[in-house]
Amino acid sequence: MDYLPLFHNLKGRRCLVVGGGDIALRKCRLLAAAGSEIDSVALDYSPEFTAFANEQRITMQQRGFQASDIDRAALVIAATSDEQLNTQISQLAKARDIPVNVVDNPALCSVVFPSIVDRSPVQIAIGTGGTSPVLARLMRRKLESLFPAAYGRLAQLAGQYRQSVKQKLTDEATRKAFWEQVFEGPVAERVFSGQQQQAERLLEQQLQSSEDGVNGEVYLVGAGPGDPDLLTFKALRLMQQADIVLYDRLVSKEVRELVRRDADLVYVGKKEGDHPVNQDNINQKLVDFAKQGHRVLRLKGGDPFIFGRGGEEIAFLADNNIPFQVVPGITAASGCASYAGIPLTHRDHAQSVRFITGHSKDGKLNLAWPELVMPNQTLVFYMGLNGLETICRELMSHGLDKTTPAALIEKGTSYRQRVFVSDLANLPEKVRASNAKAPTLIIIGHVVQLHHQLAWFNKSITPDNKES
Ligand code: SAH
Repeated sequence: MDYLPLFHNLKGRRCLVVGGGDIALRKCRLLAAAGSEIDSVALDYSPEFTAFANEQRITMQQRGFQASDIDRAALVIAATSDEQLNTQISQLAKARDIPVNVVDNPALCSVVFPSIVDRSPVQIAIGTGGTSPVLARLMRRKLESLFPAAYGRLAQLAGQYRQSVKQKLTDEATRKAFWEQVFEGPVAERVFSGQQQQAERLLEQQLQSSEDGVNGEVYLVGAGPGDPDLLTFKALRLMQQADIVLYDRLVSKEVRELVRRDADLVYVGKKEGDHPVNQDNINQKLVDFAKQGHRVLRLKGGDPFIFGRGGEEIAFLADNNIPFQVVPGITAASGCASYAGIPLTHRDHAQSVRFITGHSKDGKLNLAWPELVMPNQTLVFYMGLNGLETICRELMSHGLDKTTPAALIEKGTSYRQRVFVSDLANLPEKVRASNAKAPTLIIIGHVVQLHHQLAWFNKSITPDNKES
């Protein structure tokens, strides 16, 4: 280990910053945030530095550096463009055992600034021993997405209850289990969604009933249309803390691979015409697992509230007093449209868009056809592959022009995506010839013609897969 990470309490302590440009300003911002008193010395000050210094009551001395400037400093920062001067400052500070940082010159530093993920009072510091600030910044970005902004509030809440929990739960193992449940369970989720009071109430309830063991919860999570990059941060976080995951056929393998390694994965998908696990059964499983104290994640393709029966599942949970959360996902219409370069609405072509189920029973589709053939709207059919011919035929017979552009997108957003573009009269034949397989989405309307214009520049998906 080349450096020992320590957290430095600088409240009310004096720090010297030499230099008055952008880099010095950046350091001053950090020092000010940490509550230090800043003295600055510089030959020149940038206007931004001056503005910040005035606002923060930083003392400014516009002159050359003097050795006595470092007297009483708890930390010295050299941020000048004069290398000789930086070296001199470093030597003076080191001789007096005052921590010194010379910007962009690790060899002259006794302390280096880490990259910081600030969730005060929680902080994560990333250091690369001065080898690569860019790598540290990349890691920071990843961590930023992993720990929601509200982590600080969560830590505050824990601080607030620390003593009372210690008094009530005297056994260390029970206490540890309690806190783990708080940080990874419903209490934390309430904090993250800004429901501070409910979080406190729930924490108190859990503390009361902690002898009864842990409480479960269900997360109803949209997994998006396939590309794992389209998951939300919240979905990913819950996927990484769930105990049991019940997933559908539409949830891609790439998405499933992001679930916590030691979680149990349970397949509850349905194949067309085949219902291995019926809906009542799924509902019951969710309730049973939650009652056993598990954090149960119900992972659904796209968005749980769009043709996903999410509404039925949460109604059953509510009836059984199981707390739940719903996390939206990118629905197939948004995902497929974006990756195929077909805007769903457009000022010149469509002022509205309809999401319709194209699921047919015995070749019949009971839809309000006259409403669907209104001008200037985009129609998006889910579950329409088998009913494609019926859909196109009915739309034409109800008055939609047979040349209306129409597209079918197969396995949208995945690297196997195929887009078939034609018109109402000819799409069924084109799709039949291509042997397209579910899942597929149908988009009908004038916006489809924009696909040709936009496809070439659309980098959402690799060029080979853009069109068939
Ligand atoms: N809740 C899901 C929809 C479930 S219904 C959502 O919001 O997307 C299942 C239908 O969604 C499929 O029959 C298909 O029409 C559509 N679908 C889902 N993922 C798709 C994908 N990657 N490409 C094309 N269509 C998709």
